[in-house]
Amino acid sequence: MSLKEQAAENQRNDFTLGVDIGGTKVAAGLVDARGTILFQTRAAMPAQEDAAAGFAAVERAINSVFEKHPEAHASLAGIGICAPGPLDPIRGVVLNPPNLPCWRNFPLAAKVQRAFHVGAKVDNDANAAALAEAVWGAGADFRNVLYATLGTGIGTGIIFDRRIYHGRTGSAAEGGHVSIDYNGPRCGCGKRGCIEALCSGPAIARRARARLAESNTPSRMRELAGGSLERLTAENVAEAFHAGDALAREALEATADLLAVWLGNLIDLLEPDIIVFGGGVAQLMSEFFPRMQTELPKWSINARCCEIPLLLAKYGSDAGIAGAAALCRQ
Ligand SMILES: [Zn+2]
Repeated sequence: MSLKEQAAENQRNDFTLGVDIGGTKVAAGLVDARGTILFQTRAAMPAQEDAAAGFAAVERAINSVFEKHPEAHASLAGIGICAPGPLDPIRGVVLNPPNLPCWRNFPLAAKVQRAFHVGAKVDNDANAAALAEAVWGAGADFRNVLYATLGTGIGTGIIFDRRIYHGRTGSAAEGGHVSIDYNGPRCGCGKRGCIEALCSGPAIARRARARLAESNTPSRMRELAGGSLERLTAENVAEAFHAGDALAREALEATADLLAVWLGNLIDLLEPDIIVFGGGVAQLMSEFFPRMQTELPKWSINARCCEIPLLLAKYGSDAGIAGAAALCRQ
C-alpha cells in the first residue's frame, strides 16, 4: 500500500513525525497510526555550536522527511521530539542538558510549532520510549506500564492511566536513580547505590572484572577483553555468557538479583500492569526474567507480584523516533 492509499484508509491524523535528538545526531522518522516507522533519516547534531545551529539541524532533519513524503504534511497529527534532559516537558523547554551545550532554556516545542505550523511536544527519551511501548508496543492494551531502559545508564518512564506520569515539574520517573544501598557505589548523579550504578552496562562489566580478578577459573572473558581487563565491556560479558562461560553467568545472575530488589520496590510503589525493558542491555537481561520473577517475592510485599509480566520492548534502536512520535498520540 502506498502512503497515499494508507492516508485515505485512515480517517484522521494519519501520521506523526518523531524526532530523536542526541548529543551527536538528530534522527527523524515518519510514523503511521499503528506505530510503524515508514521512513527515517539522520543528520549530525552540532551540539557544541550555538542555539540557532542546533535548531537548524533539527529543521533539516524534519524537512528531509517532508521532501521524501510531501503528502504527510497535510495529515500530520503533530511533531514529537525526544531530547536529553533535563527538560520541561510541560512547557516544551530544553533546560541545560550536559550533552547539548548549544541549548540553555531553549523553547524547542514552540520553535518547531512556529516553523512547521503543527502541534509539537517535547519529552525525555525514557518517558517517550515508555509511551511508545504503551501505545503501540509490548504494553499496548495496558493502562499502567513501567518501562525501564537498561544500557549505558538506566532510565525509566511511568505510564499511569495511559499517560506519561510527569510529577509536579516534569522531573518524575527517575527510577534509575532510586537507591537500593546507601553504602553502595557512588552514582554519576552523586547518590550512592542507585540501580544505575549497580546494573547499567558499565556496572555489569565492572562486576565481571571483579569476578575475574578474584578467581582462577578459566574464562572466555579474558580473551575477549584482549588481555586487558579494563577493556572488558558488557557486550563481552554477553558473548561469554552465550558461549557457556560460568563467571559471566555469575556476574549476570548477581545483576539480575539486584534488579529484582529494585523492581520489588517499584512494584510496591506502583503495582504496574506490566514491566517493559528496552535499551542495549535489555535483550541480555531478558534471559534472567524467570530468575528475577523467582526472586521478586523476597523484595515485594505484593502477594501477586509474580503475576506482573516482565517483557522485552518492541522498539529497539528505533525507540527514540517511535517514542517521540507517540508523544502526539497521548
Ligand atoms: Zn544516581
